[in-house]
Amino acid sequence: MEAPSHVVFGLAGAVVADSLFHITGASLLGGSLTSDPRQFTDVVLLKAVFYGAVALGALTPDIDNARSTIGQRAGFVSKGIQKLAGHRTLFHSLLGLAMVGAIVWAAQYALGLVFYRLGYVPVAEKLGVGVAPGVVLASGVGVVFIAFLLGYFLHILADSLTYGGVPWLWPNHTRFGFPPNRNWRFHSGSRVEPFVVGGIVLVVVALIVFGKLTI
Ligand SMILES: [Zn+2]
Repeated sequence: MEAPSHVVFGLAGAVVADSLFHITGASLLGGSLTSDPRQFTDVVLLKAVFYGAVALGALTPDIDNARSTIGQRAGFVSKGIQKLAGHRTLFHSLLGLAMVGAIVWAAQYALGLVFYRLGYVPVAEKLGVGVAPGVVLASGVGVVFIAFLLGYFLHILADSLTYGGVPWLWPNHTRFGFPPNRNWRFHSGSRVEPFVVGGIVLVVVALIVFGKLTI
């Protein structure tokens, strides 16, 4: 799937996940927040960070393809990965998800510590730095971590809808996809792709309008 499709698919999936699991807390649509401008700003900022990290996560697996949007930015790093691992291998698997997850968790925690030292404790807490009285620096999960991994997971899921499928269980090379019969799937980057992604967006928007999902 192409980069814009991945971002849109990821954001649509993130709306569903946030509605189900309340990852970012309060909803902007309920009207309960408008009375307190300070809280409103905090929630908007948190949601911006959440959806931004989802979008970034949704682009990251294609770092194994030097010609992709993120691959072109990453330059030689991406070329190296493509040469060593190959496109749609490690980075499009559960193992890759776990590996990248560990890196992102560590990066988020380091960033959280910086904010903590600078005195921005609420921000540090959102980044996974647990601040108990007397004891500092337990490690929580953090919104950026959840959002990034969610985006990453939704990328692999979206690629599973394409003809090529995805080796979820790499280093086992068997590729999985949905529908299981690959002839029912569309080709990555084909003219069908925007219609599939657009259809999913329409469903999500309709569910928001009818109050079944929220942002
Ligand atoms: Zn991909």
